[in-house]
Amino acid sequence: MIDTHCHIDFEDYDNDREDVIKRAKDKLDFVIASGFNRQSNQNVLELSKEYEGFIYPTFGFHPVSSQNSTDEELNDAQNHLIDNLSDIVAVGEVGMDYYYVTDKALRERQQEIFTSFLNLANYHKVPIVMHVRDCEKKAVNIIEDYDDIPYFVFHCYGGSLKTAKRIMNKDNCFMSFSTMLCYSKHHQDLIEKIDLDYVLTETDSPYLAMTKEERNEPVNVVNAAKKIAEIKNMDLSTVDEITTNNARKIFKI
Ligand SMILES: [Zn+2]
Repeated sequence: MIDTHCHIDFEDYDNDREDVIKRAKDKLDFVIASGFNRQSNQNVLELSKEYEGFIYPTFGFHPVSSQNSTDEELNDAQNHLIDNLSDIVAVGEVGMDYYYVTDKALRERQQEIFTSFLNLANYHKVPIVMHVRDCEKKAVNIIEDYDDIPYFVFHCYGGSLKTAKRIMNKDNCFMSFSTMLCYSKHHQDLIEKIDLDYVLTETDSPYLAMTKEERNEPVNVVNAAKKIAEIKNMDLSTVDEITTNNARKIFKI
């Protein structure tokens, strides 16, 4: 089993990161630590070296926190990414968030930054992990222009079933489902109708715990897989096998 998206570099884990990773190691095959800015990218890279063969890094530029960044900061993050291409398993998280960002000019800036990372992933033929919220249809339209990106992942997919069906029409597009499955009716309805061949599991730790006050952690990805098995009336081992193989294929691990 794999947590394909977590933020184990966050300060939330500063006091007990080693224990959290040990708990994950006992149950999971590996975890993917997603960077969200220049500093975080460097942090996940260092963690991946410390826990070689268990933590794998992706380098991103988060749409919400990056919307106000300057071109200089963007260039700096992209140069850092290019310098470390051989060590990362994907570009991300990058994308667009229409839930938090409602201003038109800021949304345009988000899209400009997102497409600059798509260009980069396309040029270097690297998979991309996307944070897309309340603009899934638009994102699917945008990514259709990129033929050389090997795989696209919609992290924490929460769009419509209609857009999910468009995603399932492509053989290199995946949707990742989190521990949110344990309490979100919308996500439960989605997973019921989505073919597991297009599904990954994740936690987005420290976010999306069972309650707002709780801190999530990678080992809890098991709860997402259990919920998928329950809803789809399948064995947990089958859910595990299919989603793990999907992740191994995408990230070449
Ligand atoms: Zn994230």
